[in-house]
Amino acid sequence: MARALELAKRGWGATNPNPMVGALIVDKNGDIVAEGYHAADGAAHAEVACLKNMPRPVEPTDTMYVTLEPCSTKGRTGACTDALISAGVKNVVIGATDFSPEHSGRGVEILKAAGVNVETGVLGRECEDLNFIFNHAAKTSKALLAIKYAASKDGKIALDDGNRAHITGKEAMHSVHEWRALFSSIGVGFNTVKIDNPALTVRRDGIPPSCRQRLIFSAELNFDFDMLSKRVFTDEFEDKTRVVCCADSPADKMDFLRRCGVRVMQLSAPSADRAAFWNELKERLFSEERISSIYVEGGAITLSSIINSRSADYAFVYQSPKVFGENALDALDERARGSWKIRNPKFELLGLDKLSYGEVEYL
Ligand SMILES: [Zn+2]
Repeated sequence: MARALELAKRGWGATNPNPMVGALIVDKNGDIVAEGYHAADGAAHAEVACLKNMPRPVEPTDTMYVTLEPCSTKGRTGACTDALISAGVKNVVIGATDFSPEHSGRGVEILKAAGVNVETGVLGRECEDLNFIFNHAAKTSKALLAIKYAASKDGKIALDDGNRAHITGKEAMHSVHEWRALFSSIGVGFNTVKIDNPALTVRRDGIPPSCRQRLIFSAELNFDFDMLSKRVFTDEFEDKTRVVCCADSPADKMDFLRRCGVRVMQLSAPSADRAAFWNELKERLFSEERISSIYVEGGAITLSSIINSRSADYAFVYQSPKVFGENALDALDERARGSWKIRNPKFELLGLDKLSYGEVEYL
């Protein structure tokens, strides 16, 4: 199953809105005979890819290991339960249960009814955690909203002269790009674009740069031509950028942006109701565009708005050992600090920095 998990991760960032899944078949001696994984949305499911890679017919003593419960509905690619039964697979070991209401537990039942030996929950937690985005969307029919920020040891994001300081090292930056690759959209507030001029693209070693949907949050729409010269509005991925505003955002400014060729997404929530704003964004991105996740990188106003309206589902916090001092700018406003925590956080050491991440729990 650990090997099947490695195979699943080959689909990192390419399977949205589907889950990452890996599968393999071992013979009666425990030797791996074939492997497969779900490579991209629309491609063969892992079980089918694995069966295709079989060098010989399946024998009754072979066992398939798969990280996620095989699907039981005929989607674009056909039900995997049917494929396994007709290929003669007699033993299936499953990692995680599928959370989709139409699948959950049904795949196991169908296999058992067809006389297949089924074992579930092997490395279940790891297999479930891998698809935290897919699981969230399956349970809520909304995109998962994750916040990400890097802070000094004393919770600051900038030095007291207001200048942006390099908070974390290159290992942490590398990690950010890996996570950006997994998410289907990236968001920042207006001020972050104005001050930092970020590219918000995915840049990984040996892979050409790519870009997720870029969301720029602004209620006032205080755009001018200087703002529109920023990278997110002018680079090769400019068509992936849109400005997200509210019911009461000024109509003349929306017109100005549209005349300048900028995509504008106006939500029906008023700017005063931040909980409604974030909730509507999550619902609409998922139902209208199958965008299952939003990775919000700042700045402090946007992150605090998300936390204070109890809208964050997940968090990534990079912490540097540096101390900026009490006059430096805080990563989160006073109300947001201490109002939440990461439930059962996972930790990674990245050079001198530490990443904590996991589901957000409000206190
Ligand atoms: Zn399937």
